[in-house]
Amino acid sequence: MKPPPFEYEAPTTIQEVVALLQQHDGEAKILAGGQSLMPLLNMRFARPTALIDLGRMTDLDYIREENGAIAIGAMTTKRSVERSDLVKSRQPLLHASTTWIAHPQIRNRGTVGGSMAQADPAAEYPAVAVALDAEFVIAGPDGQRSVAASDFFITYLTTALKENEVLTEIRVPVLPERTGWSIQEVARRHGDFAMVGAVAILGLAGGSCESARVVLFGVGATPQRATSVEQALIGQAASEALFATAAEKAAEGLEDTISDVHASAEYRRHLAQVLTRRALAEAAERA
Ligand SMILES: Cc1cc2nc3c(=O)[nH]c(=O)nc-3n(C[C@H](O)[C@H](O)[C@H](O)COP(=O)(O)OP(=O)(O)OC[C@H]3O[C@@H](n4cnc5c(N)ncnc54)[C@H](O)[C@@H]3O)c2cc1C
Repeated sequence: MKPPPFEYEAPTTIQEVVALLQQHDGEAKILAGGQSLMPLLNMRFARPTALIDLGRMTDLDYIREENGAIAIGAMTTKRSVERSDLVKSRQPLLHASTTWIAHPQIRNRGTVGGSMAQADPAAEYPAVAVALDAEFVIAGPDGQRSVAASDFFITYLTTALKENEVLTEIRVPVLPERTGWSIQEVARRHGDFAMVGAVAILGLAGGSCESARVVLFGVGATPQRATSVEQALIGQAASEALFATAAEKAAEGLEDTISDVHASAEYRRHLAQVLTRRALAEAAERA
């Protein structure tokens, strides 16, 4: 399988990237790690006139702590996130979620920006971004803008990025004290995309659930907040029984649950409940 013909561009500045996107008038594609885009080209599902390779944009490869958040350049590989001591100590949920993504070879090439821009409904990073209220920094012809994770993921493989924009940074807030987290998923084999996954973030005060955030992935077109579960937890004393009752609500409000060759919608809804319960229990332990 070979990709269709395309022009190749290798810019070194954001201004050049934006100018090239403008020049190709929505027909060009940005190339990051190529782990999702290259198969799409080879199968001819995508036929861009040009590839704008960010491989030389070394200034988009960084992880640093700034103003209570971990700022990650879009071209930072997943392997760098996995190996970062800063991420491990200050944003361990992001570290843990990285270890679920694909295989080391893919994490060596695949980038954080690529995963976010790809917006696969079964991917870990988008769900973690929504759970943590991450912020996306985007550059375009009118300069820079920021988009909250809750507004970034629109539907299957579709984000708030416009054709002439490039994602430059993801800002992931550091969790407050006494806040625990967990990511759980079921996949056919380790390294496959999740059939269903759950992310839970739980803040405890005096044994009660002060804050709760639960996000499911692999169930619908985008990561979905399980608000009924969150509401069932707030103000209640943390216990296994509470987590079990709250988790029963995980399938409530799930829109258009995916049903495909991997699992029926019914099975996915069942998994959503089981994984939510496990995630809440582990998050409480960590808090
Ligand atoms: C066998 C296999 C298993 C996998 N399993 C998983 C898994 O379990 N979980 C998971 O999350 N992922 C998985 N992936 C996908 C992998 O994580 C990819 O690395 C990721 O989806 C895309 O990152 P990339 O850097 O390779 O982006 P690319 O493939 O280069 O680009 C992907 C898309 O994003 C756009 N894009 C990239 N960077 C930017 C940017 N900075 N600004 C704007 N648009 C941009 C591109 O134009 C393209 O449309 C798997 C991939 C394979 C091949």
